[in-house]
Amino acid sequence: MPTTSDVSAKLIFPTKEIVEEYYLPIIYTACRTCYSEQLPDRIWDKAVSRTVADEKQQALVRKVMESGHGSTIEHVNFTFAISGVTRTLSHQLVRHRAGTAFDQQSQRYVSFKDRDNYTIPDSIAKGDLPDDLAGQFRSAVDSNLELYGQLLQAEVPAEDARFIFPNAMQTNLIMTVNLRQLIHMSGLRLCTMAQWEIRQLFKQIRHEIFRVSPFFGSFLAPKCVPLGYCDEMGNRDEHCRIRPHRDTVMAVWEAYRSGELAETDGPVVPETSPFRPRLRRVPVDGGEGETMPITVGAPDASVGQAGGSDRV
Ligand SMILES: Cc1cc2nc3c(=O)[nH]c(=O)nc-3n(C[C@H](O)[C@H](O)[C@H](O)COP(=O)(O)OP(=O)(O)OC[C@H]3O[C@@H](n4cnc5c(N)ncnc54)[C@H](O)[C@@H]3O)c2cc1C
Repeated sequence: MPTTSDVSAKLIFPTKEIVEEYYLPIIYTACRTCYSEQLPDRIWDKAVSRTVADEKQQALVRKVMESGHGSTIEHVNFTFAISGVTRTLSHQLVRHRAGTAFDQQSQRYVSFKDRDNYTIPDSIAKGDLPDDLAGQFRSAVDSNLELYGQLLQAEVPAEDARFIFPNAMQTNLIMTVNLRQLIHMSGLRLCTMAQWEIRQLFKQIRHEIFRVSPFFGSFLAPKCVPLGYCDEMGNRDEHCRIRPHRDTVMAVWEAYRSGELAETDGPVVPETSPFRPRLRRVPVDGGEGETMPITVGAPDASVGQAGGSDRV
């Protein structure tokens, strides 16, 4: 039956037991090897025997990951069985090159007997569309698939008959991906600006990773979460409110630097930061010689120049 979505992602390897026993120690060993005189196999023995507690291993791994030392998390892989997704989705998925391996159901070697394994998006199937557009969509796809069957019967090879297939056709894949790339892909594909179907897929992928490791699962998030701001052009109106848009962050920052805003709830910018506006003591309204610090005027010239760099 045509459906509005059959998206499915199952983690087929490793098992929860393997992840729990080995994945953290592997990454911990990679991290620790960089910063230790000890031999890596000695570090590994301590990690895998839990002579070093999981909490301690996690603390180092999180620190290293947050500092962007990404090669340490390329040592572990996850393999997913993905099914019921459309060619629309798979075309986006296989654009990810680094750290991934894909195998996909062939439209050359498979002659599809099932002629209704396609997806109708909600906006069409459930939309309140005029002129029976949903019905027209379905009959257009059905007639394409009918013609596909006739071409096969006339002994046209499947590799040519498939030219009639729409993007709506469903397909199956095996995807193996290392943790670094999975975090990168999730950052892009869990974003609310991503296409709905691939977003659904990555929600399932995140669920699968959480099932075997809440620790690793916690790193799978829209890219704005680790960034702290949204960098999507299409979200300049901030209709997605997970994080403020970069434009807003920069506007607030500029206001702060020019002294229009003062910190009210404790220091936000470190005392040592060259970007801190200068503080000056001025009388409080109606006060008896009382003074309070407020920020006045632009920071000095050298700070202004530094603030213009892309390191801000
Ligand atoms: C919301 C959205 C909309 C999109 N729209 C379009 C579109 O309209 N048209 C279109 O063609 N594509 C589109 N894409 C696909 C996009 O351009 C990328 O091809 C895709 O997301 C793969 O991601 P990636 O480039 O980070 O590559 P990945 O293979 O996932 O690589 C991961 C990272 O490794 C590095 N890397 C990998 N390969 C190289 C390399 N050869 N050289 C240097 N560094 C490398 C990069 O830092 C890269 O970010 C879209 C993607 C998203 C998320």
